[in-house]
Amino acid sequence: MATELAQVAVGALTVVPRRGADGVVVRDVVPTRLVPQLDAEVATVGSHLDWMTRRVGAYPFRSYGSLIADADLGFALETQTLSLYDLSFYQDTPEGYWGPVMVHELAHQWFGDSVAPSRWGDIWQNEGHATWYEFQYAAEKGFLAEDTGIADLTDLMKAIYARSDLWRAAYGPPGAPTSGDVDELFNVNVYYGGALGPDRAPARPFRAVAAELFPKVDVKSSTLTSG
Ligand SMILES: [Zn+2]
Repeated sequence: MATELAQVAVGALTVVPRRGADGVVVRDVVPTRLVPQLDAEVATVGSHLDWMTRRVGAYPFRSYGSLIADADLGFALETQTLSLYDLSFYQDTPEGYWGPVMVHELAHQWFGDSVAPSRWGDIWQNEGHATWYEFQYAAEKGFLAEDTGIADLTDLMKAIYARSDLWRAAYGPPGAPTSGDVDELFNVNVYYGGALGPDRAPARPFRAVAAELFPKVDVKSSTLTSG
Protein backbone atom coordinates (compact mmCIF):
# COMPACT_ATOMS: atom_id res chain seq x y z
CA MET A 1 0.00 0.00 0.00
CA ALA A 2 0.97 3.67 -0.13
CA THR A 3 2.92 3.76 3.14
CA GLU A 4 2.33 7.48 3.77
CA LEU A 5 -1.41 6.81 3.73
CA ALA A 6 -1.64 4.22 6.52
CA GLN A 7 -3.44 5.28 9.69
CA VAL A 8 -4.33 3.94 13.12
CA ALA A 9 -7.41 5.23 14.95
CA VAL A 10 -8.12 4.67 18.64
CA GLY A 11 -11.31 5.74 20.39
CA ALA A 12 -14.97 5.03 21.02
CA LEU A 13 -15.78 4.37 17.38
CA THR A 14 -18.69 2.76 15.57
CA VAL A 15 -18.35 1.04 12.21
CA VAL A 16 -21.38 2.05 10.15
CA PRO A 17 -22.14 -0.21 7.16
CA ARG A 18 -23.35 1.47 3.96
CA ARG A 19 -24.82 0.35 0.69
CA GLY A 20 -22.02 -1.23 -1.31
CA ALA A 21 -21.83 -1.50 -5.07
CA ASP A 22 -19.93 -3.62 -7.56
CA GLY A 23 -18.48 -5.76 -4.79
CA VAL A 24 -17.02 -2.81 -2.84
CA VAL A 25 -17.57 -2.99 0.92
CA VAL A 26 -18.56 0.51 2.06
CA ARG A 27 -18.36 1.38 5.74
CA ASP A 28 -17.65 4.48 7.76
CA VAL A 29 -15.91 4.71 11.12
CA VAL A 30 -17.48 7.42 13.25
CA PRO A 31 -17.10 8.44 16.89
CA THR A 32 -20.05 6.74 18.54
CA ARG A 33 -21.41 9.97 20.04
CA LEU A 34 -21.43 11.61 16.59
CA VAL A 35 -23.20 8.90 14.57
CA PRO A 36 -26.69 10.49 14.78
CA GLN A 37 -25.31 13.99 14.15
CA LEU A 38 -23.21 13.21 11.08
CA ASP A 39 -24.94 10.23 9.49
CA ALA A 40 -26.63 12.11 6.64
CA GLU A 41 -23.43 13.84 5.59
CA VAL A 42 -21.11 10.85 5.82
CA ALA A 43 -23.61 8.58 4.02
CA THR A 44 -23.19 10.60 0.81
CA VAL A 45 -20.07 8.54 0.11
CA GLY A 46 -22.21 6.05 -1.84
CA SER A 47 -23.26 8.66 -4.39
CA HIS A 48 -19.65 9.84 -4.67
CA LEU A 49 -18.51 6.29 -5.44
CA ASP A 50 -21.15 6.02 -8.15
CA TRP A 51 -20.03 9.35 -9.62
CA MET A 52 -16.34 8.45 -9.72
CA THR A 53 -16.72 4.89 -11.02
CA ARG A 54 -18.78 6.20 -13.93
CA ARG A 55 -15.77 8.32 -14.89
CA VAL A 56 -12.69 6.26 -14.13
CA GLY A 57 -13.86 2.66 -13.95
CA ALA A 58 -13.88 0.14 -11.15
CA TYR A 59 -12.88 1.22 -7.67
CA PRO A 60 -9.35 -0.14 -7.12
CA PHE A 61 -9.71 -1.58 -3.59
CA ARG A 62 -12.02 -3.95 -1.73
CA SER A 63 -13.44 -1.36 0.70
CA TYR A 64 -13.98 2.35 1.13
CA GLY A 65 -15.43 4.81 3.63
CA SER A 66 -14.66 7.73 5.92
CA LEU A 67 -13.02 7.96 9.31
CA ILE A 68 -14.27 10.92 11.32
CA ALA A 69 -11.95 12.32 13.96
CA ASP A 70 -13.61 13.94 16.97
CA ALA A 71 -11.05 16.72 16.76
CA ASP A 72 -10.14 19.86 14.86
CA LEU A 73 -7.41 18.66 12.50
CA GLY A 74 -7.83 21.35 9.86
CA PHE A 75 -7.31 19.00 6.93
CA ALA A 76 -8.72 15.98 5.13
CA LEU A 77 -6.54 13.09 3.96
CA GLU A 78 -6.89 10.27 1.44
CA THR A 79 -5.84 7.55 3.89
CA GLN A 80 -6.07 4.33 1.93
CA THR A 81 -9.59 2.84 1.77
CA LEU A 82 -10.73 5.07 4.70
CA SER A 83 -10.40 8.80 4.06
CA LEU A 84 -9.92 11.00 7.11
CA TYR A 85 -12.07 14.03 8.01
CA ASP A 86 -12.58 15.91 11.23
CA LEU A 87 -15.70 17.02 13.05
CA SER A 88 -15.26 20.70 12.17
CA PHE A 89 -15.29 19.77 8.47
CA TYR A 90 -19.03 19.05 8.73
CA GLN A 91 -20.06 21.45 11.48
CA ASP A 92 -22.10 24.40 10.26
CA THR A 93 -20.78 23.97 6.72
CA PRO A 94 -22.83 23.46 3.54
CA GLU A 95 -22.59 20.40 1.30
CA GLY A 96 -20.87 22.59 -1.29
CA TYR A 97 -17.96 22.83 1.14
CA TRP A 98 -17.52 19.20 2.19
CA GLY A 99 -19.02 17.28 -0.76
CA PRO A 100 -16.37 18.20 -3.37
CA VAL A 101 -13.58 17.54 -0.85
CA MET A 102 -15.00 14.07 -0.19
CA VAL A 103 -14.87 13.45 -3.95
CA HIS A 104 -11.28 14.77 -3.97
CA GLU A 105 -10.22 12.25 -1.32
CA LEU A 106 -12.12 9.47 -3.09
CA ALA A 107 -10.45 10.33 -6.41
CA HIS A 108 -7.11 9.87 -4.68
CA GLN A 109 -7.89 6.18 -4.17
CA TRP A 110 -7.23 5.87 -7.91
CA PHE A 111 -4.79 8.79 -8.24
CA GLY A 112 -2.22 8.53 -5.45
CA ASP A 113 -3.28 5.47 -3.46
CA SER A 114 -3.68 2.65 -5.97
CA VAL A 115 -0.85 4.26 -7.95
CA ALA A 116 1.48 6.14 -5.60
CA PRO A 117 4.39 8.43 -6.51
CA SER A 118 7.90 7.16 -5.99
CA ARG A 119 9.20 10.67 -5.20
CA TRP A 120 7.55 13.68 -3.58
CA GLY A 121 8.17 15.85 -6.64
CA ASP A 122 5.51 13.78 -8.42
CA ILE A 123 2.83 14.63 -5.86
CA TRP A 124 1.14 16.93 -8.42
CA GLN A 125 -0.01 13.79 -10.22
CA ASN A 126 -2.02 12.89 -7.12
CA GLU A 127 -3.22 16.36 -6.26
CA GLY A 128 -3.76 17.67 -9.78
CA HIS A 129 -6.04 14.80 -10.75
CA ALA A 130 -7.90 14.71 -7.43
CA THR A 131 -8.45 18.48 -7.62
CA TRP A 132 -9.67 18.24 -11.20
CA TYR A 133 -12.30 15.63 -10.29
CA GLU A 134 -13.23 17.78 -7.27
CA PHE A 135 -13.81 20.73 -9.63
CA GLN A 136 -15.77 18.59 -12.10
CA TYR A 137 -18.04 17.29 -9.36
CA ALA A 138 -18.50 20.74 -7.82
CA ALA A 139 -19.34 22.29 -11.19
CA GLU A 140 -21.85 19.56 -12.03
CA LYS A 141 -23.62 19.84 -8.67
CA GLY A 142 -23.61 23.65 -8.49
CA PHE A 143 -21.08 23.67 -5.63
CA LEU A 144 -18.17 25.36 -7.37
CA ALA A 145 -18.62 28.80 -5.76
CA GLU A 146 -18.72 27.23 -2.28
CA ASP A 147 -15.77 24.99 -3.14
CA THR A 148 -13.51 27.56 -4.77
CA GLY A 149 -15.09 31.01 -4.65
CA ILE A 150 -15.63 31.03 -8.43
CA ALA A 151 -18.92 29.69 -9.78
CA ASP A 152 -17.98 28.89 -13.39
CA LEU A 153 -15.45 26.18 -14.24
CA THR A 154 -13.96 27.98 -17.24
CA ASP A 155 -13.61 31.19 -15.23
CA LEU A 156 -11.93 29.18 -12.46
CA MET A 157 -9.42 27.62 -14.81
CA LYS A 158 -8.65 31.00 -16.37
CA ALA A 159 -8.10 32.47 -12.91
CA ILE A 160 -5.73 29.62 -12.04
CA TYR A 161 -3.84 30.10 -15.28
CA ALA A 162 -3.57 33.84 -14.65
CA ARG A 163 -1.93 33.19 -11.28
CA SER A 164 0.27 30.29 -12.33
CA ASP A 165 3.38 32.38 -13.07
CA LEU A 166 3.24 33.94 -9.60
CA TRP A 167 2.78 30.54 -7.97
CA ARG A 168 5.57 29.08 -10.09
CA ALA A 169 7.91 31.88 -8.96
CA ALA A 170 6.98 31.27 -5.32
CA TYR A 171 6.98 27.48 -5.24
CA GLY A 172 8.48 26.17 -8.48
CA PRO A 173 6.67 24.20 -11.19
CA PRO A 174 4.00 21.70 -10.03
CA GLY A 175 6.30 18.82 -10.98
CA ALA A 176 9.43 20.29 -9.36
CA PRO A 177 8.63 22.08 -6.08
CA THR A 178 11.60 24.11 -4.87
CA SER A 179 11.07 23.11 -1.23
CA GLY A 180 10.55 19.76 0.40
CA ASP A 181 9.08 21.40 3.50
CA VAL A 182 5.65 19.84 3.96
CA ASP A 183 3.85 23.20 4.00
CA GLU A 184 5.49 24.21 0.73
CA LEU A 185 5.57 20.81 -0.96
CA PHE A 186 1.76 20.71 -0.85
CA ASN A 187 1.44 24.20 -2.29
CA VAL A 188 -1.38 25.77 -4.27
CA ASN A 189 0.43 25.28 -7.57
CA VAL A 190 0.62 21.52 -6.98
CA TYR A 191 -3.17 21.39 -6.46
CA TYR A 192 -4.59 24.09 -8.71
CA GLY A 193 -1.74 24.29 -11.22
CA GLY A 194 -1.71 20.50 -11.32
CA ALA A 195 -5.41 20.52 -12.21
CA LEU A 196 -4.71 22.64 -15.30
CA GLY A 197 -3.03 19.68 -17.00
CA PRO A 198 -6.08 17.39 -17.06
CA ASP A 199 -8.32 20.34 -17.86
CA ARG A 200 -6.45 21.83 -20.80
CA ALA A 201 -4.96 18.77 -22.49
CA PRO A 202 -6.76 17.48 -25.58
CA ALA A 203 -8.52 14.23 -24.74
CA ARG A 204 -6.40 11.81 -26.75
CA PRO A 205 -2.93 12.91 -25.51
CA PHE A 206 -4.21 13.18 -21.96
CA ARG A 207 -5.59 9.66 -22.03
CA ALA A 208 -2.22 8.42 -23.26
CA VAL A 209 -0.39 10.26 -20.46
CA ALA A 210 -2.93 9.10 -17.85
CA ALA A 211 -2.54 5.51 -19.06
CA GLU A 212 1.21 5.76 -18.57
CA LEU A 213 1.05 7.47 -15.18
CA PHE A 214 -1.92 5.51 -13.85
CA PRO A 215 -1.98 2.20 -15.70
CA LYS A 216 -4.75 0.79 -13.51
CA VAL A 217 -7.14 3.65 -14.25
CA ASP A 218 -9.57 3.46 -17.15
CA VAL A 219 -10.06 7.19 -17.75
CA LYS A 220 -13.21 7.82 -19.75
CA SER A 221 -13.10 10.26 -22.64
CA SER A 222 -16.31 11.94 -21.51
CA THR A 223 -14.50 13.46 -18.56
CA LEU A 224 -11.82 15.13 -20.63
CA THR A 225 -13.66 17.73 -22.61
CA SER A 226 -14.40 20.47 -20.11
CA GLY A 227 -12.94 23.92 -19.82
ZN1 LIG B 1 -5.45 15.74 -2.26
